[in-house]
Amino acid sequence: MFNKRVKIRELLAQEPTGQEVTVMGWVRSFRNNQFIALNDGSTNNNIQVVAELGKFDDTLLKRITLSASFKVKGTIVPSLGKGQKMDLNAATIEVLGDSDAEKYPIQLRNRPTLEYLREVAHFRFRTNTFGSIFRIRHSLAFAIHKFFNDKGFVYLHTPIITASDAEGAGEMFRVTTLPFDEEKNKTPRNEDGTIDFKEDFFGRPTNLTVSGQLEGELGATALGDIYTFGPTFRAENSNTTRHLAEFWMIEPEMAFYDLEDNMNLAEEFIKYIIQYAITNNRDDLEFLAQRLAEEEKQLPQDKRSDMGLIEKLEFVLNNNFERITYTEAIDILRESNHNKKKKFQYPITGWGMDLQSEHERYLVEKHFKKPVILSNYPREIKAFYMRQNEDGKTVAAMDILAPGIGEIVGGSQREERLEKLEARMKEMHIPADELWWYLDTRKFGSVPHAGFGLGFERMVQFVTGMTNIRDVIAFPRTPKSAEF
Ligand code: ATP
Ligand code: MN
Repeated sequence: MFNKRVKIRELLAQEPTGQEVTVMGWVRSFRNNQFIALNDGSTNNNIQVVAELGKFDDTLLKRITLSASFKVKGTIVPSLGKGQKMDLNAATIEVLGDSDAEKYPIQLRNRPTLEYLREVAHFRFRTNTFGSIFRIRHSLAFAIHKFFNDKGFVYLHTPIITASDAEGAGEMFRVTTLPFDEEKNKTPRNEDGTIDFKEDFFGRPTNLTVSGQLEGELGATALGDIYTFGPTFRAENSNTTRHLAEFWMIEPEMAFYDLEDNMNLAEEFIKYIIQYAITNNRDDLEFLAQRLAEEEKQLPQDKRSDMGLIEKLEFVLNNNFERITYTEAIDILRESNHNKKKKFQYPITGWGMDLQSEHERYLVEKHFKKPVILSNYPREIKAFYMRQNEDGKTVAAMDILAPGIGEIVGGSQREERLEKLEARMKEMHIPADELWWYLDTRKFGSVPHAGFGLGFERMVQFVTGMTNIRDVIAFPRTPKSAEF
């Protein structure tokens, strides 16, 4: 039976009192033919296994190599060495899997770069950096479910394959079983030469979802409060450090909420999950804080952050998010020295322009130095479903901007008035006949409601301090890259 093992994280929390234990894990290092640092992924801290000299034969000792896996039984005693409180005095050492240390793709001593580790993503979990990131990612996911569950929200699974383009703008991945063999021309065609989607699996064109929101609204307008937490796909060809083709999104949708309720919930939610990580992942956060501090030493002074990672997170917890309107934001940006000295790549042309990530980051990092909630954007730059304000120019939208990341949340109060919604859809050429089911909620017991979407990976980036989004998802999907 394998499951009698104790996890190293649990073991290290105990006092060394001669207890008999079994541990299993992978070798991180082997010193003096005697001391094995064994890691099992439950923490970055290794258990020091002591293989008493003369007790084990040479053929076994030769197999104790980097990343080989072992089962060790023995006794826990106070360590004689510095640096660890306990040793595991090995009674038996059993090889589970050999590892040719010369050929093992990650030589820890050479300090592999993050770029290189993406090429060996199948093993990068075995490094301290990625061990920490993925334990924190897990905790954040768990905290998200806990937060909503404790508030009585229903976790709704919205479809991954959809026939609607929720945003009206998203670049989508087509889902089809039609043959695309051009040469033999097996693709079924209509008389005018266009593809005949009636022959396709679903009898119509379908795509991978870019958002679960529209279906989420159907849930909220019956169940009250719902949230989704699932994969989302966007075929946008943007090779940035903040965009993936496949990412995870959390989309709460609440009946009887206005824009302010929506902002309050989003702020409370973000703070809750950060607090959860600080409480439950202290070691991993400290490790990543250290890593980040070292990485920043390579940067020129003015590019370094004022705060360490944990300080930054605590600062976010202890301060209210700044709340301003889009109009106020444009004024601040226009009047900024940064703009006057023409330091923005995209100059501030005036009210109505869409904000670029450099503008968002200026507001949070230079001007307010804390997260900012921007609200009431021009209707022309926002989606059709956002509630129209009385001024006839703006909609009840809100975006949350985070230091180092830019937009982390996008949300709004939804347009619950049928005539207004239909009029806007017409203006924006959104086909009403495809969204008949969405419009129905505005015909039968329509209620004020609101919701938002949080990009999970951007949240993990914020908490772990990782600058590239490819390093916070196990197997990133980006343009020209779908290995593993
Ligand atoms: P951006 O302007 O940064 O591309 P967006 O306006 O397209 O964001 P929304 O459509 O509002 O974003 O999506 C909600 C959230 O999903 C965003 O706030 C962001 O956190 C996240 N998000 C959007 N696109 C991506 C992506 N390609 N990869 C990872 N996360 C994303
Ligand atoms: Mn986008």
